[in-house]
Amino acid sequence: MDLKKLTIKKTQEGLLSKEFSAVELTKECFKEIEKEKDLNAFLALNKDGALIQAEIIDKKITSGEALKKLDGVPIAIKDNILVKDIISTSGSKILENYVAPYDATVIQKLKESGAIILGKTNMDEFALGSSTENSAFGPTKNSRNRECVPGGSSGGSAVAVAADLSVAALGSDTGGSVRQPASLCGVVGFKPTYGAVSRYGLMAMASSLDQIGPITKTVEDAEIIFNTIRGKDKLDSTSVDDERVKIITGKFSKKKNLKDITIGIPKEYFISGMDSEVEKNIKNKISELEKRGAKIKEVSLPHADYALAVYYIIMPAEVSANLARYDGIRYGASERGAKNLLETYFKTRAKNFGDEPKRRIMLGTYVLSSGYYDAYYLQAQKMRTLIQEDFKKVFTEVDCLITPTTPTTAFKIGEKVDDPLAMYLNDIFTVSANVAGIPAISLPCGEAHGLPVGIQVMGQWFGEEIVFEVAKEIENKL
Ligand code: GLN
Repeated sequence: MDLKKLTIKKTQEGLLSKEFSAVELTKECFKEIEKEKDLNAFLALNKDGALIQAEIIDKKITSGEALKKLDGVPIAIKDNILVKDIISTSGSKILENYVAPYDATVIQKLKESGAIILGKTNMDEFALGSSTENSAFGPTKNSRNRECVPGGSSGGSAVAVAADLSVAALGSDTGGSVRQPASLCGVVGFKPTYGAVSRYGLMAMASSLDQIGPITKTVEDAEIIFNTIRGKDKLDSTSVDDERVKIITGKFSKKKNLKDITIGIPKEYFISGMDSEVEKNIKNKISELEKRGAKIKEVSLPHADYALAVYYIIMPAEVSANLARYDGIRYGASERGAKNLLETYFKTRAKNFGDEPKRRIMLGTYVLSSGYYDAYYLQAQKMRTLIQEDFKKVFTEVDCLITPTTPTTAFKIGEKVDDPLAMYLNDIFTVSANVAGIPAISLPCGEAHGLPVGIQVMGQWFGEEIVFEVAKEIENKL
């Protein structure tokens, strides 16, 4: 079997035609993971659980039972998503030996659909980063060039798919952590509308921005996984029920043909500082879409320039609150020998958090502190509303937006670790979708400097269908 060729459909075709069994496929994945250990894509493996699941699928096939959507499909899971009985560290020393006591809702749904969970993937500590270099367990390497970062924070998941160690993966995206590594590794990454997918069992980073999304080889696979994990969950009050989604999407006009679709190109996204080769690739793709009949319209998102600043105020504010739970008492590491409770907190956090969580806790508590709250946090919230209004307005004129996913291709490991601002600039094109809550996908768009380039398609709230349609047009026919 050739793992490189396997998409979800091809996996199931191979299983049904008995080209390979689920057990053989699963063993092959573990063999590849072992062979590619140097990539450091995985933090924990689920060998026993995966093989038991594979045997169940093989029995099902032998008995002629129909397959469910993901029966036999190997999937890798970012380490901040809980999989029952498996160590979930979120890339942090503070949770080094923490065993998840329950399945996240998305995991429960994947298991019910027959997916085979291979293991947990490496990530920036608590998803704070754009390169996976902030993992307490060493950086992940980009499989296209091992001297380069895979992007982050879902770097391990992106590499698991790009290096064909797994057919698909899950990541989490708070400011681009699914799309940016997908872009840098040459695979597909999708961030759903805020509220489309339950966050229950995802270790919270910034709760008003976090969404779980698939990383896959094709747009179709991303769509299949999204449709498996989406939906209302009573354990996440921000998840939205189908009825409400239907009311929202019922107002959209049904457009299946590229000729009926108007694509907006936000002029603010073509900035100086963007790699000219990356820009050329994206612009070529836009002209190809135009030649094939799509209407292309230059649009303006006047507050786009503030999105990164808004994100880097609201996000650390929420991070500082969410990370307060790692106190040496409730979960994971606990430093002994402290004189009192407060000292236990201080010792545990000082010793076990890496630099980036500490940096964001300091930034977050600062912007929330009295005296500065109005100047930073409140101001950022107001600007967030204006950014949302920009998108609302633009989606009365166009069906979706196309932009680059990142301003450059993958950079060298170590190149930006000492310059947090340069690192944060990587997120310039991805954060707006989280700030506004809209869906966005990144998919491969050729190469520059021998490395993958990603193109981003953004849609309106719950407009995932059109995002997938346009992405498929880019992927298949251009
Ligand atoms: N790179 C961004 C950050 O460091 C996004 C992280 C994410 O989406 N989890 O905040």
